[in-house]
Amino acid sequence: MLTDNEVEEFFRRLQDRMPKRSAEPHVKEDPDHFRALVSCLLSAQSRDANTAKAKNALFRLADTPEGILMLPDADIAAAIKPAGLYNIKTRRVKALCRALLDEYDGIVPKDRPSLMELPGIGRKCADIMLLFSFGEPAIAVDTHVHRVSNRTGLARGKTEAQTAAALEPRAPQWAMMDGHMWLLEFGKRTCTSRAPKCAACFLNDLCEAPRL
Ligand code: SF4
Repeated sequence: MLTDNEVEEFFRRLQDRMPKRSAEPHVKEDPDHFRALVSCLLSAQSRDANTAKAKNALFRLADTPEGILMLPDADIAAAIKPAGLYNIKTRRVKALCRALLDEYDGIVPKDRPSLMELPGIGRKCADIMLLFSFGEPAIAVDTHVHRVSNRTGLARGKTEAQTAAALEPRAPQWAMMDGHMWLLEFGKRTCTSRAPKCAACFLNDLCEAPRL
């Protein structure tokens, strides 16, 4: 594992090289918290473009918890089919709507434990909501952030949620608002899943796996 000083230097270099934060596309287009949360649920194992098709089709039918609960399951499943796993996601969307109405009067809660107790909402979606919808510091860990963190020795975890829990106390406070986007872009551009560009990597001397 990297030392605290190395972690600090790691994020300093990302800050210098990576673009500043921009919102997750599905949240950026949906300032409405409920729609953003449903979009995040739909995005599981789905490409952004397919998630966008699914959520647009669903929100044309209804875009409130009450409205979605009144829809037949078959209509929801047909609308969200582009996002895949549509039968499972239909059940989860309805369970989410029910929980929001029963426990929060239909208002999306603003804290991680409450978000993670909602059906279909895991650590990543909770952190994406905190960061992009509520402006709270959080490093959401997706597949790219998970890979970079574990490869480099930034933070270790077998699952994305474990990595997120390990990364949070290690990341400097000043990096919490932008860290997600820096690591995400770095993972897409340099520390790629296949054939990472180690020879040209600006973190090569810090990384614990420079000879991949
Ligand atoms: S040296 Fe290679 S494995 Fe390490 S961070 Fe850079 S690209 Fe990733």
